[in-house]
Amino acid sequence: MQPKLIIHGGAGSSLKGKGGLDAVRRSLHAIVEQTYAKLQAGADAQDAVILGCHLLEDEPRFNAGTGSVLQSDGQVRMSASIMNGPQQRLSGVINIAQVQHPIDLAQWLQTSPDRILSDYGGAQLVRELQLPIHNPLTDLRLQEWLEERKGNFSKDMAGVVAEDSMDAEAGRGTIGVVALDQQGQIVAGTSTGGKGFERIGRVSDSAMPAGNYATRDAGISCTGIGEDIIDECLAARIVVRVTDGLALEAAFQKSFAEAQAHQRDFGAIGIDKTGAIAWGKNCDVLLAAYHDGDRIHDTLEAPLGCQVRSS
Ligand code: ASP
Repeated sequence: MQPKLIIHGGAGSSLKGKGGLDAVRRSLHAIVEQTYAKLQAGADAQDAVILGCHLLEDEPRFNAGTGSVLQSDGQVRMSASIMNGPQQRLSGVINIAQVQHPIDLAQWLQTSPDRILSDYGGAQLVRELQLPIHNPLTDLRLQEWLEERKGNFSKDMAGVVAEDSMDAEAGRGTIGVVALDQQGQIVAGTSTGGKGFERIGRVSDSAMPAGNYATRDAGISCTGIGEDIIDECLAARIVVRVTDGLALEAAFQKSFAEAQAHQRDFGAIGIDKTGAIAWGKNCDVLLAAYHDGDRIHDTLEAPLGCQVRSS
């Protein structure tokens, strides 16, 4: 099969300047190019998803790994999961600290009998695996937190991308990757620093089937307000619709129409087993880019709603 790939770097309200937009575009396209090359060279979907997540977690612009937003107490806590479609298996970590690639812990847990670990258990695993200590905090995110503290944390969420000037009114910034490999296997991965400024102990959708889900038929990664994603059970909802026979496009449209009626605020990306690639959003921007086998496209300036590129 011809491999397919879609990635995202979050969703939210408009990116401030063209500078922001161009830089985000360059960064997303470069990551799609590198990750798609791996799929084309014969890598399986899970390895490609791990590579794509590493590159996105290492890009300080996005709210995952290095560059993660701070919680209300000024600490970074990250969550990540992998859903392997052929195995129909989710693994992940919730609110872990001081690692460079939270997605690696999710990958390790794929073959463990205990597959989702929260803070304390995640920290034990980091010790057991002897992963080096990594501080994901960046100056921009610290500045953003200090600014927000002045206003007593009035914003719903942190900025979508870390930008040089601090007046971004955007939200979100989680990262996600969905890949279909040459064997037709679909895997989805999602990694996040959370909403930003949240209460200690708040659990993100990113390590739940609501935010990251896949079967043999389709895979979806979500971004946006985690509570909204959980209330719609968005990723699993779209995938189950495809598994039950709806086309990917119809599954996106139906799920986003319902979400619109409930005034939800999020975006999602996905791929199905026919190689169709889809995305949808009911917020201003979805920072997604994809490779359809011919070339790279992105959704940075796309209108509200859903779109599908059939195979
Ligand atoms: N969904 C993430 C969360 O609520 C945030 C995001 O997508 O940026 O934790």
